[in-house]
Amino acid sequence: MGMYKKMKTGLVTDKIFLEHDTGHGHPESKERLESILLYLQSKSYTKDLIEIDAKIPTEEDILKVHSLAHYNKIKSLSEKKGYLDGDTPYSAKTTEAALKAVGAGIEMADRIINRELENGMVIVRPPGHHAEKDHAMGFCIFNNIAITAKYIQSKGFKKIAIIDWDVHHGNGTENAFYDDDSVLFISTHQYPFYPGSGSESDTGLGKGVGYNLNIPMQRGSGMSEFKKAFENKIIPGLEKFIPDFILISAGFDAHINDPLANLELTTKSYEIFTEQLKSIARQYCENRIISFLEGGYDLKALSESVEAHISVLAG
Ligand SMILES: [Zn+2]
Repeated sequence: MGMYKKMKTGLVTDKIFLEHDTGHGHPESKERLESILLYLQSKSYTKDLIEIDAKIPTEEDILKVHSLAHYNKIKSLSEKKGYLDGDTPYSAKTTEAALKAVGAGIEMADRIINRELENGMVIVRPPGHHAEKDHAMGFCIFNNIAITAKYIQSKGFKKIAIIDWDVHHGNGTENAFYDDDSVLFISTHQYPFYPGSGSESDTGLGKGVGYNLNIPMQRGSGMSEFKKAFENKIIPGLEKFIPDFILISAGFDAHINDPLANLELTTKSYEIFTEQLKSIARQYCENRIISFLEGGYDLKALSESVEAHISVLAG
C-alpha cells in the first residue's frame, strides 16, 4: 500500500489491483494502473511516499450496500477464471482486489475523518459505480464509492454528495441511494449509452426525490456543455445541499481520446472540474473530498487526466 502525502492530500493504491486479471484485450486492464502510477512518479511533487496498509472491509461494511448472496459469491470465487457478467471477468486474485478496492476508500475516509489528510484519491481496480446490490456489472464488482459513503455516514457525517463524471451512468450508485435524501447523487454521462439508465427524469423516490440529478449528454458534447452543467445544475445543487463530505466517481472516459465513448473533454477539463469541486469543499466541508478511479481506457489520456486531477487536489 503506497500513500502519497503532501499538503494533506493522500493517494492510496495497492499492488493487488494489478493482479485482478481481466484477460487479453480487455479494456479494463492492469496497464491502466501501471500507466497512471508511472506517470505520477515522473512528477516531482509525488516523490514522498508513505507506506500504509489497506483495510479489508468488514462484512458489515459491504452489506450496507450489497446483498449477503453477492458478498458470499465474491468471497467464494475459486481459483479458476470466469465471468461475473458478460463483460466482467474474474481471476484468482479478483476477490482480494475487489475487497481492497473498497478498503482503500474506507482507509482514505478514516484518514480524512482523523484530519491526518484533507482530501485524496484512491487509485483502484476493479472500478465500482456499475455494481448493483446483488450483482457485478460493467467491470465493477463491489460499489466502492457507495460503501465508502455509508461508512462515512456511520462515522457521523450525514450529508454526502457524490459527483460521477465517468462517461457512463453510475447506475449502481444511483440505485443505492435512490430513496435517500442524505446522499445527493449527480451524474454526467453520455446518453443514450451503456448501461441505458440515467434519464434526466429519474430524480429519486420517496424522500429521495430531488436528490438524484442526472445530466445526460449527447454524443459529441464537450466542455461548453459541461461548463453549463456545472454553472446551472451541479454547483447550485451542491450549494443548496451543503455537503459534509464530497465523493467523486472519477472516470476519465469522457476524454476525447477515449476508445469506448464519444464525448469530447480534454485533460484540462478535469482540472477545471476539480477546481470547482474543491472550491465547494473548501466552503462547506473543510476540504473533505475522496476521489475514486472509475473508467478511462486511453492510457495516455487517462494518466494525464488523473495527474491533472490530483495536482489540483494537492495544490
Ligand atoms: Zn465509464
